[in-house]
Amino acid sequence: MDIVYLNGQFIAADQAKISVFDRGFLFSDSVYEVIPFYAGEGFQLEQHIKRLKISLAALNISVEDNYTEIVQELVAKNKMTNCSVYLQVTRGADTKRRHSINESLKPTVFACINPIVNNYALAAAEVSGINVIVCEDLRWKRCDIKSTSLLPNILVIEQARQQGAKEALLINDGKVLEGASSNLFLVESNKIITPPSSHAILNGTTSQLVQQVARKQKIAVLHEDISYQRLIAADEVWITSSTRGLLPVLKVDDKFIAGGEKGAVWQKLYVLLAQAQAKLLNETD
Ligand code: PMP
Repeated sequence: MDIVYLNGQFIAADQAKISVFDRGFLFSDSVYEVIPFYAGEGFQLEQHIKRLKISLAALNISVEDNYTEIVQELVAKNKMTNCSVYLQVTRGADTKRRHSINESLKPTVFACINPIVNNYALAAAEVSGINVIVCEDLRWKRCDIKSTSLLPNILVIEQARQQGAKEALLINDGKVLEGASSNLFLVESNKIITPPSSHAILNGTTSQLVQQVARKQKIAVLHEDISYQRLIAADEVWITSSTRGLLPVLKVDDKFIAGGEKGAVWQKLYVLLAQAQAKLLNETD
């Protein structure tokens, strides 16, 4: 049985209980992070904790300063080397159900782990590209806040699954913004394009790393809107996320991207990211 963290205690998962009046349970009044650990070391841990604090501050939920220690201790206690930590902070448990916020609530802090594979351990030739579908974005207007209110995401991910696709890209007002759980990149004439940061998308930790690595290699990174036409005409399409890394997209709906082959720019970036990952992990020793 996995050990989970709940409000100051490391306990067996089946012993962890929250109140029925917890606002995370009742209203999704809560935020989260999913943080990969490889060989027991957090990858981009600082960036994830920073983003968690930004999400909490945006909702005026009080921020604590021990999140890093909690996730590190949880991984160590579970003795799991490659895993992702799910860390959730809710506004807390009230004494009854009411919309209005009781400012004296103490946030509920919960963390658990899931085994993952190291995305960058495979040789580029072994990485499988994915198919995606494009769906209407039914989410709220603050997708930069990593809220646990994920019903619109879950519904499109299910639609993708039913159509044999591995991700749903979300289109809003003619702009393809990001995936249900990933950021979006295109390649056009060896330049990388990703949508501008805004309240409509999550500021992805993997996206930031990809952009840094690309700029170091003098590959241009442009922040521009992506229409459906532009997406399907791209030389390459990729998605990024902490748990999936940098994945090439081979098909969008029923249209092959670049003949359904993984692209040369993807391959170059993938190799560089694998090196960057190894270096970042060594630096945290
Ligand atoms: N967008 C959304 C909507 C996501 O859920 C995720 C996954 N957290 C991402 C982008 C990618 O973010 P990251 O690279 O930090 O995992």
